[in-house]
Amino acid sequence: MTIPLAHFAPSAGGPALPQERRLVTAIPGPRSQELAARAAAAIAKPVTSTTMPVFAAAAGGGVLVDVDGNSFIDFGCGIAVTTVGNAAPAVVAAVQAQAASFTHTSFATTPYPGYIEVAERLAALTPGDFPKRSLLINSGAEAVENAVKIARRYTGRQAIVVFDHAFHGRTNLTMGMTAKSMPYKSGFGPFAPEIYRAPMSYPYRDGLDGPAAAARTISQIEAQVGGANVAAIVIEPIQGEGGFVVPAPGFLPALAAWCRDNGAVFVADEIQSGIARTGDMFACEHEGVVPDLVTVAKGLAGGLPLSGVTGRAEIMDAIHPGGLGGTYGGNPIACAAALAALDTIEREGLLERARQIGAILSERLTALRAADPRVGDVRGRGAMQAIELVKPGGIAPDPATTLAVADKARHEGLIVLNCGTYGNVLRLLPPLSISDALLHEGLDVLAGALAATR
Ligand SMILES: *Cc1c(COP(=O)(O)O)cnc(C)c1O
Repeated sequence: MTIPLAHFAPSAGGPALPQERRLVTAIPGPRSQELAARAAAAIAKPVTSTTMPVFAAAAGGGVLVDVDGNSFIDFGCGIAVTTVGNAAPAVVAAVQAQAASFTHTSFATTPYPGYIEVAERLAALTPGDFPKRSLLINSGAEAVENAVKIARRYTGRQAIVVFDHAFHGRTNLTMGMTAKSMPYKSGFGPFAPEIYRAPMSYPYRDGLDGPAAAARTISQIEAQVGGANVAAIVIEPIQGEGGFVVPAPGFLPALAAWCRDNGAVFVADEIQSGIARTGDMFACEHEGVVPDLVTVAKGLAGGLPLSGVTGRAEIMDAIHPGGLGGTYGGNPIACAAALAALDTIEREGLLERARQIGAILSERLTALRAADPRVGDVRGRGAMQAIELVKPGGIAPDPATTLAVADKARHEGLIVLNCGTYGNVLRLLPPLSISDALLHEGLDVLAGALAATR
Protein backbone atom coordinates (compact mmCIF):
# COMPACT_ATOMS: atom_id res chain seq x y z
CA MET A 1 0.00 0.00 0.00
CA THR A 2 1.26 3.46 -0.83
CA ILE A 3 1.20 6.02 1.92
CA PRO A 4 0.48 9.57 0.81
CA LEU A 5 3.12 11.73 2.42
CA ALA A 6 2.56 15.00 0.65
CA HIS A 7 0.53 16.56 3.42
CA PHE A 8 3.50 16.28 5.80
CA ALA A 9 5.91 18.13 3.57
CA PRO A 10 6.43 21.79 4.45
CA SER A 11 6.67 23.92 1.34
CA ALA A 12 9.63 26.26 1.08
CA GLY A 13 8.67 29.55 2.59
CA GLY A 14 5.44 27.95 3.82
CA PRO A 15 4.50 27.36 7.42
CA ALA A 16 7.45 26.18 9.47
CA LEU A 17 7.21 22.89 11.32
CA PRO A 18 6.01 23.29 14.92
CA GLN A 19 9.18 23.25 17.01
CA GLU A 20 8.09 20.70 19.56
CA ARG A 21 8.64 17.14 20.70
CA ARG A 22 5.34 15.39 20.17
CA LEU A 23 4.57 11.67 20.35
CA VAL A 24 1.15 10.79 18.98
CA THR A 25 1.61 7.02 18.50
CA ALA A 26 3.71 4.28 20.01
CA ILE A 27 7.19 4.29 18.43
CA PRO A 28 7.20 3.05 15.72
CA GLY A 29 3.68 4.04 14.69
CA PRO A 30 1.49 2.08 12.26
CA ARG A 31 2.66 3.85 9.10
CA SER A 32 6.30 3.33 10.05
CA GLN A 33 5.59 -0.33 10.75
CA GLU A 34 4.00 -0.70 7.35
CA LEU A 35 7.02 0.93 5.67
CA ALA A 36 9.37 -1.28 7.69
CA ALA A 37 7.65 -4.34 6.27
CA ARG A 38 8.03 -2.99 2.74
CA ALA A 39 11.64 -2.08 3.40
CA ALA A 40 12.39 -5.59 4.63
CA ALA A 41 11.00 -7.01 1.38
CA ALA A 42 12.70 -4.55 -0.97
CA ILE A 43 15.87 -3.20 0.60
CA ALA A 44 19.10 -5.03 1.28
CA LYS A 45 19.19 -5.93 4.95
CA PRO A 46 22.63 -4.39 5.64
CA VAL A 47 21.47 -0.90 4.69
CA THR A 48 18.26 -1.03 6.73
CA SER A 49 18.26 1.50 9.57
CA THR A 50 19.19 0.13 12.96
CA THR A 51 19.07 3.60 14.49
CA MET A 52 15.58 5.06 14.31
CA PRO A 53 12.61 2.70 13.86
CA VAL A 54 10.58 5.43 12.14
CA PHE A 55 10.40 6.86 8.62
CA ALA A 56 10.88 10.55 7.94
CA ALA A 57 8.24 12.82 6.43
CA ALA A 58 9.59 16.31 7.12
CA ALA A 59 12.33 18.04 9.07
CA GLY A 60 13.44 21.55 9.90
CA GLY A 61 14.63 23.82 12.69
CA GLY A 62 15.39 21.35 15.46
CA VAL A 63 12.84 18.62 14.72
CA LEU A 64 12.14 15.69 12.44
CA VAL A 65 8.54 14.58 11.90
CA ASP A 66 7.81 10.96 11.05
CA VAL A 67 5.12 9.50 8.79
CA ASP A 68 2.79 9.01 11.78
CA GLY A 69 3.06 12.65 12.84
CA ASN A 70 5.50 12.07 15.73
CA SER A 71 7.91 14.97 16.11
CA PHE A 72 11.44 14.14 17.31
CA ILE A 73 14.12 16.48 18.58
CA ASP A 74 17.00 16.04 16.16
CA PHE A 75 20.44 15.54 17.74
CA GLY A 76 21.67 13.61 14.70
CA CYS A 77 21.47 15.93 11.69
CA GLY A 78 21.50 12.96 9.33
CA ILE A 79 25.02 12.21 10.63
CA ALA A 80 26.32 15.77 10.91
CA VAL A 81 25.01 16.85 7.51
CA THR A 82 22.13 19.28 8.03
CA THR A 83 24.20 21.67 10.13
CA VAL A 84 22.34 24.76 8.82
CA GLY A 85 19.01 23.04 9.46
CA ASN A 86 17.07 20.51 7.43
CA ALA A 87 15.29 21.98 4.41
CA ALA A 88 16.88 25.31 5.34
CA PRO A 89 14.87 27.93 3.44
CA ALA A 90 17.86 29.41 1.58
CA VAL A 91 19.04 25.93 0.56
CA VAL A 92 15.57 24.95 -0.66
CA ALA A 93 15.25 28.12 -2.73
CA ALA A 94 18.71 27.70 -4.26
CA VAL A 95 18.06 24.06 -5.12
CA GLN A 96 14.71 24.87 -6.72
CA ALA A 97 16.17 27.69 -8.80
CA GLN A 98 19.17 25.68 -10.00
CA ALA A 99 17.09 22.60 -10.77
CA ALA A 100 14.83 24.74 -12.93
CA SER A 101 17.84 26.07 -14.88
CA PHE A 102 19.85 22.90 -15.46
CA THR A 103 20.42 19.82 -13.37
CA HIS A 104 23.70 18.50 -14.76
CA THR A 105 26.27 19.00 -17.47
CA SER A 106 29.40 17.33 -16.02
CA PHE A 107 31.98 19.94 -15.08
CA ALA A 108 34.67 18.29 -17.21
CA THR A 109 32.63 18.63 -20.40
CA THR A 110 30.68 21.88 -19.91
CA PRO A 111 31.71 23.83 -16.82
CA TYR A 112 29.43 26.21 -14.92
CA PRO A 113 29.94 29.06 -12.43
CA GLY A 114 28.58 27.40 -9.26
CA TYR A 115 31.53 24.99 -9.10
CA ILE A 116 33.99 27.89 -9.29
CA GLU A 117 32.10 29.84 -6.63
CA VAL A 118 32.19 26.92 -4.20
CA ALA A 119 35.94 26.51 -4.84
CA GLU A 120 36.47 30.23 -4.21
CA ARG A 121 34.53 30.03 -0.95
CA LEU A 122 36.47 26.95 0.21
CA ALA A 123 39.77 28.68 -0.59
CA ALA A 124 38.73 31.66 1.51
CA LEU A 125 37.35 29.60 4.40
CA THR A 126 40.03 26.94 4.85
CA PRO A 127 43.05 27.84 7.01
CA GLY A 128 46.22 29.13 5.36
CA ASP A 129 47.09 32.31 3.52
CA PHE A 130 48.46 30.84 0.30
CA PRO A 131 47.13 30.07 -3.18
CA LYS A 132 44.68 27.18 -3.06
CA ARG A 133 42.84 24.99 -5.51
CA SER A 134 39.81 22.74 -5.02
CA LEU A 135 38.33 19.59 -6.47
CA LEU A 136 34.62 18.85 -5.93
CA ILE A 137 33.22 15.34 -5.84
CA ASN A 138 30.20 13.62 -4.29
CA SER A 139 30.90 11.78 -1.06
CA GLY A 140 33.26 11.92 1.87
CA ALA A 141 34.99 8.70 0.90
CA GLU A 142 35.56 10.07 -2.59
CA ALA A 143 37.18 13.19 -1.13
CA VAL A 144 39.53 11.10 1.01
CA GLU A 145 40.40 8.86 -1.96
CA ASN A 146 41.28 11.92 -4.02
CA ALA A 147 43.37 13.46 -1.24
CA VAL A 148 45.40 10.24 -1.17
CA LYS A 149 45.78 10.20 -4.96
CA ILE A 150 46.94 13.82 -4.91
CA ALA A 151 49.41 13.34 -2.04
CA ARG A 152 50.95 10.26 -3.66
CA ARG A 153 51.31 11.85 -7.06
CA TYR A 154 52.74 15.06 -5.58
CA THR A 155 55.28 13.39 -3.29
CA GLY A 156 56.09 10.40 -5.47
CA ARG A 157 55.71 8.33 -2.26
CA GLN A 158 53.21 5.66 -1.31
CA ALA A 159 52.77 5.33 2.45
CA ILE A 160 49.63 6.76 4.02
CA VAL A 161 49.54 7.13 7.81
CA VAL A 162 46.16 6.91 9.54
CA PHE A 163 45.15 6.49 13.18
CA ASP A 164 43.52 4.23 15.70
CA HIS A 165 39.73 4.90 15.81
CA ALA A 166 39.86 6.63 12.41
CA PHE A 167 36.90 6.65 10.05
CA HIS A 168 37.48 7.71 6.46
CA GLY A 169 34.76 5.90 4.50
CA ARG A 170 33.58 2.62 3.07
CA THR A 171 35.16 2.36 -0.39
CA ASN A 172 38.02 -0.09 -0.69
CA LEU A 173 40.82 2.42 -0.08
CA THR A 174 38.97 4.24 2.69
CA MET A 175 37.89 0.97 4.35
CA GLY A 176 41.57 0.21 4.64
CA MET A 177 42.08 3.61 6.24
CA THR A 178 39.15 3.15 8.64
CA ALA A 179 40.06 1.46 11.93
CA LYS A 180 36.96 -0.41 13.06
CA SER A 181 36.41 -3.92 11.73
CA MET A 182 32.74 -4.46 12.53
CA PRO A 183 30.65 -3.35 10.72
CA TYR A 184 32.84 -1.40 8.29
CA LYS A 185 35.51 -3.89 7.14
CA SER A 186 34.79 -7.39 8.33
CA GLY A 187 34.85 -9.81 5.41
CA PHE A 188 35.42 -7.10 2.79
CA GLY A 189 39.19 -7.47 2.32
CA PRO A 190 41.75 -7.56 0.89
CA PHE A 191 42.40 -3.91 1.55
CA ALA A 192 44.73 -1.58 -0.33
CA PRO A 193 48.41 -1.73 0.61
CA GLU A 194 50.67 1.01 2.03
CA ILE A 195 48.26 2.11 4.75
CA TYR A 196 49.89 2.33 8.19
CA ARG A 197 48.01 2.83 11.46
CA ALA A 198 49.53 4.92 14.23
CA PRO A 199 48.39 5.64 17.80
CA MET A 200 45.84 8.45 18.20
CA SER A 201 45.98 10.89 21.09
CA TYR A 202 43.02 9.84 23.26
CA PRO A 203 43.47 11.70 26.55
CA TYR A 204 40.70 9.85 28.41
CA ARG A 205 42.26 6.46 27.66
CA ASP A 206 45.99 7.07 27.23
CA GLY A 207 46.47 9.81 29.82
CA LEU A 208 49.20 11.41 27.67
CA ASP A 209 49.52 15.11 27.01
CA GLY A 210 49.75 16.25 23.38
CA PRO A 211 53.54 16.43 23.05
CA ALA A 212 53.99 13.00 24.70
CA ALA A 213 51.31 11.42 22.50
CA ALA A 214 52.86 13.01 19.41
CA ALA A 215 56.33 11.75 20.36
CA ARG A 216 54.98 8.20 20.71
CA THR A 217 53.17 8.43 17.37
CA ILE A 218 56.09 9.98 15.50
CA SER A 219 58.59 7.45 16.80
CA GLN A 220 56.30 4.66 15.63
CA ILE A 221 55.93 6.23 12.18
CA GLU A 222 59.69 6.71 11.85
CA ALA A 223 60.47 3.18 12.99
CA GLN A 224 57.74 1.30 11.12
CA VAL A 225 57.22 3.39 7.97
CA GLY A 226 60.21 5.72 7.65
CA GLY A 227 59.79 9.47 7.25
CA ALA A 228 61.05 9.45 3.65
CA ASN A 229 58.30 7.02 2.61
CA VAL A 230 55.30 8.92 3.96
CA ALA A 231 53.15 10.56 1.28
CA ALA A 232 50.56 11.82 3.74
CA ILE A 233 49.29 11.78 7.27
CA VAL A 234 45.49 11.76 7.15
CA ILE A 235 43.78 12.67 10.42
CA GLU A 236 40.38 13.82 11.68
CA PRO A 237 41.05 16.86 13.92
CA ILE A 238 38.17 15.57 16.05
CA GLN A 239 37.37 11.97 15.24
CA GLY A 240 33.79 11.24 14.19
CA GLU A 241 32.60 7.63 14.01
CA GLY A 242 35.57 6.56 16.13
CA GLY A 243 34.08 8.24 19.20
CA PHE A 244 34.44 12.03 19.01
CA VAL A 245 37.99 11.67 20.26
CA VAL A 246 39.59 15.09 20.72
CA PRO A 247 43.39 14.84 20.64
CA ALA A 248 45.27 16.48 23.50
CA PRO A 249 46.42 20.05 22.77
CA GLY A 250 49.72 20.02 20.89
CA PHE A 251 49.20 16.66 19.17
CA LEU A 252 47.92 18.01 15.84
CA PRO A 253 50.46 20.87 15.62
CA ALA A 254 53.31 18.40 16.27
CA LEU A 255 52.13 16.08 13.49
CA ALA A 256 51.72 19.00 11.08
CA ALA A 257 55.26 20.16 11.91
CA TRP A 258 56.59 16.63 11.39
CA CYS A 259 54.97 16.53 7.95
CA ARG A 260 56.59 19.85 7.05
CA ASP A 261 60.00 18.61 8.18
CA ASN A 262 59.66 15.32 6.32
CA GLY A 263 58.14 16.42 3.04
CA ALA A 264 54.83 14.67 3.74
CA VAL A 265 51.38 16.11 3.03
CA PHE A 266 49.28 16.86 6.11
CA VAL A 267 45.63 16.09 5.31
CA ALA A 268 42.90 17.18 7.73
CA ASP A 269 39.79 15.06 7.21
CA GLU A 270 37.22 17.66 8.29
CA ILE A 271 34.30 15.81 6.75
CA GLN A 272 32.48 15.52 10.08
CA SER A 273 34.17 18.25 12.15
CA GLY A 274 34.21 20.99 9.50
CA ILE A 275 31.78 23.66 8.20
CA ALA A 276 30.92 25.47 11.45
CA ARG A 277 30.17 22.34 13.44
CA THR A 278 32.65 23.01 16.26
CA GLY A 279 32.22 26.79 16.47
CA ASP A 280 35.12 27.31 14.08
CA MET A 281 34.72 26.84 10.36
CA PHE A 282 37.20 23.95 10.67
CA ALA A 283 38.15 22.08 13.84
CA CYS A 284 41.89 22.34 13.12
CA GLU A 285 41.65 26.14 13.45
CA HIS A 286 41.18 25.73 17.19
CA GLU A 287 44.92 25.07 17.50
CA GLY A 288 46.00 27.19 14.57
CA VAL A 289 46.90 24.12 12.52
CA VAL A 290 47.20 24.80 8.77
CA PRO A 291 46.73 21.60 6.77
CA ASP A 292 48.17 21.15 3.28
CA LEU A 293 44.90 19.57 2.15
CA VAL A 294 41.44 19.63 3.75
CA THR A 295 38.64 17.21 2.92
CA VAL A 296 35.05 18.44 3.36
CA ALA A 297 31.63 16.90 2.80
CA LYS A 298 28.78 16.32 5.27
CA GLY A 299 27.87 19.84 6.45
CA LEU A 300 28.91 21.51 3.20
CA ALA A 301 25.72 21.51 1.15
CA GLY A 302 22.79 21.54 3.55
CA GLY A 303 21.88 17.91 2.86
CA LEU A 304 22.85 17.52 -0.79
CA PRO A 305 25.71 15.20 -1.70
CA LEU A 306 28.83 17.27 -2.27
CA SER A 307 32.41 16.87 -1.11
CA GLY A 308 35.69 18.54 -1.80
CA VAL A 309 39.44 18.56 -1.45
CA THR A 310 40.96 22.02 -0.96
CA GLY A 311 44.64 22.69 -0.55
CA ARG A 312 47.91 24.20 -1.59
CA ALA A 313 47.94 25.09 -5.28
CA GLU A 314 51.34 23.50 -5.88
CA ILE A 315 50.11 20.16 -4.50
CA MET A 316 46.71 20.17 -6.23
CA ASP A 317 48.16 21.31 -9.54
CA ALA A 318 50.90 18.67 -9.54
CA ILE A 319 48.45 16.18 -11.05
CA HIS A 320 48.41 15.67 -14.81
CA PRO A 321 45.46 17.12 -16.78
CA GLY A 322 42.37 14.93 -16.54
CA GLY A 323 43.85 13.03 -13.58
CA LEU A 324 41.03 14.00 -11.23
CA GLY A 325 37.28 14.20 -11.75
CA GLY A 326 34.11 12.18 -12.08
CA THR A 327 30.80 12.34 -13.94
CA TYR A 328 28.77 13.90 -11.15
CA GLY A 329 31.47 15.69 -9.15
CA GLY A 330 30.41 19.17 -8.08
CA ASN A 331 26.85 18.73 -9.34
CA PRO A 332 25.31 22.15 -10.03
CA ILE A 333 22.34 21.66 -7.69
CA ALA A 334 24.68 20.55 -4.89
CA CYS A 335 26.92 23.57 -5.56
CA ALA A 336 23.93 25.92 -5.39
CA ALA A 337 22.95 24.29 -2.10
CA ALA A 338 26.48 24.69 -0.74
CA LEU A 339 26.60 28.39 -1.61
CA ALA A 340 23.25 28.88 0.13
CA ALA A 341 24.41 26.88 3.18
CA LEU A 342 27.65 28.90 3.43
CA ASP A 343 25.65 32.14 3.07
CA THR A 344 23.33 30.97 5.82
CA ILE A 345 26.26 30.28 8.16
CA GLU A 346 27.52 33.80 7.59
CA ARG A 347 24.20 35.63 7.58
CA GLU A 348 22.82 33.90 10.67
CA GLY A 349 26.06 33.99 12.66
CA LEU A 350 26.12 30.22 12.97
CA LEU A 351 29.74 29.99 14.15
CA GLU A 352 28.69 31.95 17.22
CA ARG A 353 25.53 29.84 17.49
CA ALA A 354 27.64 26.65 17.45
CA ARG A 355 29.66 28.06 20.36
CA GLN A 356 26.49 28.91 22.29
CA ILE A 357 25.14 25.40 21.72
CA GLY A 358 28.53 24.09 22.80
CA ALA A 359 28.37 25.98 26.08
CA ILE A 360 24.94 24.53 26.86
CA LEU A 361 25.98 21.01 25.86
CA SER A 362 29.16 20.98 27.88
CA GLU A 363 27.49 22.44 30.97
CA ARG A 364 24.65 19.92 30.91
CA LEU A 365 26.84 16.93 29.98
CA THR A 366 29.42 17.80 32.63
CA ALA A 367 26.59 17.87 35.20
CA LEU A 368 25.51 14.42 33.99
CA ARG A 369 29.05 13.11 34.46
CA ALA A 370 29.25 14.54 37.98
CA ALA A 371 26.00 12.77 38.90
CA ASP A 372 26.54 9.43 37.17
CA PRO A 373 29.72 7.32 37.40
CA ARG A 374 28.81 5.58 34.13
CA VAL A 375 29.48 8.81 32.25
CA GLY A 376 33.25 8.48 32.05
CA ASP A 377 34.09 11.33 29.73
CA VAL A 378 32.51 14.41 28.18
CA ARG A 379 34.28 15.78 25.14
CA GLY A 380 33.97 17.63 21.88
CA ARG A 381 33.56 21.21 20.86
CA GLY A 382 30.65 23.39 19.83
CA ALA A 383 27.75 21.41 18.43
CA MET A 384 29.88 18.25 18.24
CA GLN A 385 29.98 16.70 21.70
CA ALA A 386 29.71 13.27 23.21
CA ILE A 387 29.62 11.25 26.38
CA GLU A 388 31.56 8.01 26.75
CA LEU A 389 29.84 5.39 28.91
CA VAL A 390 31.89 3.04 31.06
CA LYS A 391 31.49 0.50 33.85
CA PRO A 392 31.61 2.49 37.12
CA GLY A 393 34.95 2.45 38.88
CA GLY A 394 37.12 2.23 35.78
CA ILE A 395 37.22 2.94 32.08
CA ALA A 396 35.91 -0.40 30.75
CA PRO A 397 33.54 0.45 27.86
CA ASP A 398 29.82 -0.21 28.40
CA PRO A 399 28.27 -0.62 24.94
CA ALA A 400 25.16 -2.40 26.32
CA THR A 401 24.16 0.55 28.49
CA THR A 402 24.98 2.92 25.62
CA LEU A 403 22.60 1.10 23.29
CA ALA A 404 19.91 0.90 25.96
CA VAL A 405 20.13 4.63 26.70
CA ALA A 406 20.02 5.51 23.00
CA ASP A 407 17.06 3.22 22.44
CA LYS A 408 15.17 4.67 25.41
CA ALA A 409 15.86 8.24 24.27
CA ARG A 410 14.73 7.47 20.73
CA HIS A 411 11.45 6.04 22.00
CA GLU A 412 10.97 9.22 24.06
CA GLY A 413 11.32 11.47 21.01
CA LEU A 414 15.03 12.22 20.70
CA ILE A 415 17.19 11.27 17.72
CA VAL A 416 20.60 10.48 19.15
CA LEU A 417 23.44 8.54 17.50
CA ASN A 418 26.00 6.25 19.02
CA CYS A 419 29.56 5.73 17.83
CA GLY A 420 33.01 4.74 19.04
CA THR A 421 35.42 1.89 18.46
CA TYR A 422 33.89 0.20 21.52
CA GLY A 423 30.31 1.27 20.73
CA ASN A 424 30.07 3.16 24.01
CA VAL A 425 29.83 6.79 22.90
CA LEU A 426 26.65 8.84 22.50
CA ARG A 427 27.28 11.75 20.17
CA LEU A 428 25.22 14.91 20.02
CA LEU A 429 25.08 16.71 16.67
CA PRO A 430 22.17 19.14 16.83
CA PRO A 431 21.47 21.41 13.88
CA LEU A 432 22.59 24.99 14.46
CA SER A 433 18.97 26.00 13.77
CA ILE A 434 17.74 24.35 16.99
CA SER A 435 16.24 26.54 19.71
CA ASP A 436 17.68 26.65 23.23
CA ALA A 437 14.37 25.31 24.54
CA LEU A 438 14.51 22.21 22.31
CA LEU A 439 18.19 21.73 23.05
CA HIS A 440 17.47 21.67 26.79
CA GLU A 441 14.46 19.42 26.30
CA GLY A 442 16.57 16.98 24.29
CA LEU A 443 19.17 16.95 27.05
CA ASP A 444 16.36 16.34 29.59
CA VAL A 445 15.27 13.32 27.53
CA LEU A 446 18.86 12.05 27.44
CA ALA A 447 19.22 12.51 31.22
CA GLY A 448 15.92 10.72 31.74
CA ALA A 449 17.02 7.83 29.52
CA LEU A 450 20.26 7.53 31.50
CA ALA A 451 18.35 7.51 34.79
CA ALA A 452 15.89 4.92 33.47
CA THR A 453 18.72 2.56 32.43
CA ARG A 454 20.41 2.38 35.78
C1 LIG B 1 31.42 10.35 7.09
C2 LIG B 1 32.89 10.49 6.99
C3 LIG B 1 33.60 10.06 5.87
C4 LIG B 1 32.92 9.36 4.71
O1 LIG B 1 31.93 10.13 4.12
P1 LIG B 1 30.85 9.43 3.15
O2 LIG B 1 30.14 10.59 2.55
O3 LIG B 1 29.98 8.60 4.02
O4 LIG B 1 31.61 8.64 2.18
C5 LIG B 1 34.95 10.29 5.82
N1 LIG B 1 35.60 10.89 6.83
C6 LIG B 1 34.96 11.31 7.94
C7 LIG B 1 35.71 11.99 9.02
C8 LIG B 1 33.58 11.11 8.07
O5 LIG B 1 32.95 11.49 9.18
